[in-house]
Amino acid sequence: MKATVRVAVVGGGITGLAAAHRLTTTLRSDDLLLLEADGRLGGKITTERTSGYVIEGGPDCFLGIKPAGIELCRRLGIADRIRGTNPQLRRSFVKRAGQLHELPDGLTGLVPSRIGPLMTTGILSRYGRLRAACEPLVPRRTAQTDEAIASFVIRRFGREAYDWLVEPLLSGIFAGDGAALSLGATFPQLAATERLHGSVLLPMLRARFRKNGTSGPPPLGFVTPETGLAELVEALERVLPGPQVWRGARVAELIRLPHGWRLALEDGRTVDTLAVVMTAPAFATAELVAPLDPTLGETLAGIPFVSTATVSVAFPRSAVPQPLNGSGYVSPRMEGGSVVACTWTSNKFPARVPADGVLLRFFLGRAGSEGPAFATDDEIQDMIRAELAAVHGITAEPDLWKVYRWPRGLPQYTVGHLDRLALIDRRLAALPGLVLAGASYGGVGIPDCIKSGWSAADAAAAHVETLVAA
Ligand SMILES: Cc1cc2nc3c(=O)[nH]c(=O)nc-3n(C[C@H](O)[C@H](O)[C@H](O)COP(=O)(O)OP(=O)(O)OC[C@H]3O[C@@H](n4cnc5c(N)ncnc54)[C@H](O)[C@@H]3O)c2cc1C
Repeated sequence: MKATVRVAVVGGGITGLAAAHRLTTTLRSDDLLLLEADGRLGGKITTERTSGYVIEGGPDCFLGIKPAGIELCRRLGIADRIRGTNPQLRRSFVKRAGQLHELPDGLTGLVPSRIGPLMTTGILSRYGRLRAACEPLVPRRTAQTDEAIASFVIRRFGREAYDWLVEPLLSGIFAGDGAALSLGATFPQLAATERLHGSVLLPMLRARFRKNGTSGPPPLGFVTPETGLAELVEALERVLPGPQVWRGARVAELIRLPHGWRLALEDGRTVDTLAVVMTAPAFATAELVAPLDPTLGETLAGIPFVSTATVSVAFPRSAVPQPLNGSGYVSPRMEGGSVVACTWTSNKFPARVPADGVLLRFFLGRAGSEGPAFATDDEIQDMIRAELAAVHGITAEPDLWKVYRWPRGLPQYTVGHLDRLALIDRRLAALPGLVLAGASYGGVGIPDCIKSGWSAADAAAAHVETLVAA
């Protein structure tokens, strides 16, 4: 079977779906095709609804302050389905020596922004607190080169604040190793603030002082559609007519034609197209482009990925002896153990459980310790039982177990990532009509993926317009 279209989108995760949706506004329906290797759409977004529980295997919410997520929901007519996390139980904890300590208020953009909570937190020793509070006295870095997040935080706030406050947050967000992750690619505003003000704490303190007395709406935190992120995928599926979406369609080869591209699928089908929006993870894209441009292939393959797993367990409320007074905890690398973080889902999203149900979600695996992501179900269950007993005092057997493995699931923006992106752009200039987008490049969060899908769709549409006009 052979199809001919103007734009083919490869990958039906949120990036590819957002790109395809955007293209429906400029292309006729038979000029667009979305190709997804799997039998279902959504990629990392996978929601299971069972026995009154809503269980997320991958992402469970997105940052509301980045506009693309909510904007997409608005365009799909599902903005009224968006809910925030439970405001009564937003407190989070850090595990140290087996005990949970509340994360100090005012951790903004990864680092502390308030002195008071920093000076009273039980997570840090007295020395650690004082060292962190001395941040404004630390001279600014003069080198303009990229720096690892660990190096930045240790320089400015001290080792203890890094190990026990910042590192566990990094593990929670990227499953990453701060000694390898690039500050410029992940938290560029911190590097810019240091360059401009010589401190990151002082300008935040000044801003708080100026705001004192003025009350505005609280900033939007994490949000999600009521019955899970699959609502977003389902809404996108509804607006992409059936014949425009091929499921079970793995692209095996990318062939350059005089005025476009041929995609050869694993099952023998082919698609000729003027432009390709490629949203597969960088390592998969690397294999497709390496025969066309080995340097591009090598650069894409050089973006590292980390494997993780999530494990959801459910109990009747009566099986949970201690009150869960917050939204969950993170476990620093220094603490050891296989659990990286745990979300108390039934507190964070009360609508996702039946009335007397408690739902907890554990994260396993991080850079440098990915073993738990490849453990057997039995081994994973043993890890979780031990954590349930030690931290929550829960000894009952869960009513429900759900394990999701994410091999090479999270891209790592390591030091030099921005240079890699610049090189990728230069190489792509010689492959007109091929546009890359998705979590591997300019942001792993769902709003960033949507934004990158939209930009890629616009670039592909502009390319097609030039070809058609010529
Ligand atoms: C466990 C976990 C928790 C997360 N939590 C959050 C969170 O709470 N909030 C948040 O904002 N983000 C979170 N993220 C990150 C976010 O989910 C992802 O970055 C985002 O969903 C990636 O979307 P994508 O479309 O770029 O890639 P993917 O979802 O990976 O989609 C790519 C698609 O391409 C397809 N594909 C690959 N190769 C081919 C081929 N050759 N031919 C055709 N199709 C192909 C794949 O099958 C896949 O469906 C989390 C990620 C993980 C793994």
